[in-house]
Amino acid sequence: MLTKIIRLDPLNFSIKQLQEAIDLIRNDEIVAFPTETVYGLGGSAFSETAVRKIYEAKGRPSDNPMIVHISDLEMLSSIVNVIPENIRKLCERFWPGPLTILFEKSEKIPDIVTAGLNTVAVRMPSHPVALAFIKELGIPLAAPSANLSSRPSPTKAEHVFNDLQGKIPLIIDSGSCNVGVESTVIDVHKGHSVVLRPGGVNLEDLKCYLPKVEIFNNKNKELSDEFKPPTPGLKYRHYSPKAEIILIEGSIKFLEEKIVSLHFKYRTQKKRIGILHTHKNFQIPSDIINDPKCKMIYLGLRDSNIDSDDSINADKIAEGLFSSLREVDNQNIDLVIVEGISEKKIGLAVMNRLRKAASKIIKE
Ligand code: AMP
Ligand code: MG
Repeated sequence: MLTKIIRLDPLNFSIKQLQEAIDLIRNDEIVAFPTETVYGLGGSAFSETAVRKIYEAKGRPSDNPMIVHISDLEMLSSIVNVIPENIRKLCERFWPGPLTILFEKSEKIPDIVTAGLNTVAVRMPSHPVALAFIKELGIPLAAPSANLSSRPSPTKAEHVFNDLQGKIPLIIDSGSCNVGVESTVIDVHKGHSVVLRPGGVNLEDLKCYLPKVEIFNNKNKELSDEFKPPTPGLKYRHYSPKAEIILIEGSIKFLEEKIVSLHFKYRTQKKRIGILHTHKNFQIPSDIINDPKCKMIYLGLRDSNIDSDDSINADKIAEGLFSSLREVDNQNIDLVIVEGISEKKIGLAVMNRLRKAASKIIKE
């Protein structure tokens, strides 16, 4: 199959340019499209055939359910059984945006979308192309991230193309996704609010609205079985480049020490080493910097300078996170040492992704 790419300026496009994508979805086909978080691989949420194609193209385990994307609250009513008043208010506060909310699923959504669960995860994206695409279709889109399963999520059309060329008919290319990490997934159930996956909406912002919101944690004994939400995505290795990832959590000094000792250990094994870091100038010996088998790569966007405002930094690190992980593969690196960052604001989602990608975590 030939994979076609259509370029659409997110600030200046016409619905006509979406016609080919719309026709494909109406014919049970699948299309990669931009959202503010990452690129999605969408198919009609009402079509078992389309959803099966998504699982196949990604190589996604069939027990990992998908998020259904909508363009307005009317569409929400067509796919869920009830919209409790407190959840409607939550939608009004955070949509459109990177918050995914669990609902009781209606029979119109085939079981394959939710992997047999009786809840459906729904979100309204804020990306103008995603919103216009779904609105014009008039059909909700089941869409996981448009990467091969277990690979870093795609934040540029070229990431999608590298993973899925020949497997999908069309990619809508609208440049880079500006949030860079996936949506926050939340379950509001019998008055308990639990974040199943940290993401684009910060815990700090959620807390202003839901003061008792908790982060789901396998080890959290306080959550009774009744309230333990199903989080199928938790089981799987995620976001990984081919290289082995060693995540370092601690002070800059600790990071510098670990880089020196790990570089010493692994260079004798003739491995190509990568160092993923946020600092423009930190103190590591010149023999490491000048080692041709050692590559220094920025974690996040190049201008995520840690010396400036923390929150701006974290946003830029999130925005460039998956590109950095993919750069590790482009450089044929065998082993990468990654700097852990603060878990404030979107840093929580960044650290969640890095911990899932890591094969080893070293804490101070
Ligand atoms: P992705 O779209 O690939 O970023 O993954 C969607 C995430 O939402 C995965 O972690 C899923 O496990 C989670 N998810 C989707 N639907 C449900 C659901 N009904 N209940 C719990 N988690 C869900
Ligand atoms: Mg994904």
